[in-house]
Amino acid sequence: MPKFRKKPVEIEASQWFKNGDHPKDGTDRMQPDFSECEGAVVRYFRRPDVPGTTPCRHCDKTMHDHGWIDTLEGGHIVCPGDYVITGVKGENYPCKPDIFAATYDEVIEQKKNLTIGELEQILREPDRKVHINPDGSVSAEIN
Ligand SMILES: [Zn+2]
Repeated sequence: MPKFRKKPVEIEASQWFKNGDHPKDGTDRMQPDFSECEGAVVRYFRRPDVPGTTPCRHCDKTMHDHGWIDTLEGGHIVCPGDYVITGVKGENYPCKPDIFAATYDEVIEQKKNLTIGELEQILREPDRKVHINPDGSVSAEIN
């Protein structure tokens, strides 16, 4: 049988713990405690057929602590700690942290020809790799 390899694609993702955590939730329009306004991407979990005090079958926290992403087919429940992935067509969906870690690597970009100021900044952060290039210029991995 012919074999196929999945094409590498870059996705955006962020870990979600509570209402307002998604970078595109529009936290600027929210109240300081977020209680009056739900996120634009991850909404409150709210289904009339499921009481908010019900424990989740994935994480055991009550459904009050969960989020919800609308989709054309219905929606996704977001557990606290799930990653919210934005796919290639702009769709958002949750992913369990262990699956996320097994599936995705962080995209590391290289910045070349650093200034002394940039180099000092990078060396203050933990686990940074800095390279001295053959031409004497300095590069660093950034993310
Ligand atoms: Zn859960």
